[in-house]
Amino acid sequence: MNNTIIKLSIICFIIAMPFSYSSAYDDEITHREITEKAVVESQIDTFLKNTIGISNGYKEKVNGKKIIQWFSDGGELEDDPMCRASNHFHDPLKLWNQSFMSDDTTIMGSGIRQYCNELGWNYVNRKSNVTWTTGFLAPSPDGARATFSTDPEYTPINWDTARAYYLNALTSTSEADREANFAATFKSVGHVMHLLEDAAQPAHVRNDFTSHLVFQEINGFKFWKWYGSSYEHYVKNLPTLVTSAVPIPPEFVNPGLTDFWDTEQYDGSNPSASLTLGLAEYSNKQESEFRGQESGEQIGCDQMHISHMIAQFECVEII
Ligand SMILES: [Zn+2]
Repeated sequence: MNNTIIKLSIICFIIAMPFSYSSAYDDEITHREITEKAVVESQIDTFLKNTIGISNGYKEKVNGKKIIQWFSDGGELEDDPMCRASNHFHDPLKLWNQSFMSDDTTIMGSGIRQYCNELGWNYVNRKSNVTWTTGFLAPSPDGARATFSTDPEYTPINWDTARAYYLNALTSTSEADREANFAATFKSVGHVMHLLEDAAQPAHVRNDFTSHLVFQEINGFKFWKWYGSSYEHYVKNLPTLVTSAVPIPPEFVNPGLTDFWDTEQYDGSNPSASLTLGLAEYSNKQESEFRGQESGEQIGCDQMHISHMIAQFECVEII
């Protein structure tokens, strides 16, 4: 690089460091809490015991860790590195090749975009949450498929990744390989769960990265984590919102994979509390109720969906 580019990179780095593309929910605390809650509330324990033959279910240790911890690890690591999170947004009112986050155009937002571009997370390769997770650019199973980077550093760890590891886990001939692939399967599903959890964050379903650039508090040496969304900060500091969440199953009939995010029923003019909506649609329709949370201390909504994945639990009383 010549000196000009080096200087520009340093400036971009300094601008970008105080912020991040945001986990939606806090990666180290809230995503782990939601993921573990979803595992506990779901049918996964029964599936592991009865279908795969893992006698202790999600409490079984596989490749050195309990299965539930592998899920939880994936739930945290989907935000690592932080520029990966630029693929964690989906506005269900837009075409899926346009529904990704694109409002990083403020001075700070532009600095972060440039910083991520420099690291190889180029804006032109950005995907929506639903596409990043499922590979589809339109509803599955017949929708068009996206192409991703072939460089593993910039490739999603998504549903297809989990399926590939799962096949290897079931077909590997050595015990060690089976264990390693089962662990990778559970961790990959944890990444998928993180992405679906993000669809419960209103800012992530209406192209609102800007609301993540608010100073919250000085806490620890990772000073870029002092900034974020007021809503996410509120949820992080009230863990009982997650621990006391009550499962409400969806009412899908033969759902496709992408339906968990977006069933293409909601067009902005037909709000509904139907449990046949995808989570991004449900969260988007509550825009007005959530608006207060994004901008200030006061939490104004009466319910929010936390996760639609596996347990499909949601609707946590906030006030
Ligand atoms: Zn995220």
